[in-house]
Amino acid sequence: MTIEDKQTDLDKRYLRMARIWAENSYCKRRQVGALIVKDKMIISDGYNGTPSGFENVCEDENYVTKPYVLHAEANALTKIARSGNNSDGATMYVTDEPCIECAKLIIQSGIRRVIYARDYRLHDGVELLERAGIVVEHLFLDSND
Ligand SMILES: [Zn+2]
Repeated sequence: MTIEDKQTDLDKRYLRMARIWAENSYCKRRQVGALIVKDKMIISDGYNGTPSGFENVCEDENYVTKPYVLHAEANALTKIARSGNNSDGATMYVTDEPCIECAKLIIQSGIRRVIYARDYRLHDGVELLERAGIVVEHLFLDSND
């Protein structure tokens, strides 16, 4: 097994954990999970949901996502802001392709790699990450992963 294969195996394992973490989300339209890993330690986690103190309902009566729902990436990054850790040089594992708003936060947080599983219909987030020199990898997870 090459070093690249081992890295991919590890990446898939963290991505599977992010997918399991997404099950915490009470959002109905889409459940997204994110993990931030630094020096082989998970230093933060997040899933999409409303801010602390708001009721745990992501969609309005028309089944549209409420504007104040935080994405998994933003929740994972803001959790670090309240901890003694920092995300400089870390890797983010996220179940879904990051949007442009999260991409901006990821760039500013010093994260160097982003690994995601599911494609999103827009790709401007990934394009922005790549413009900032962040390594972005799309790894498919199938039902056997
Ligand atoms: Zn986002």
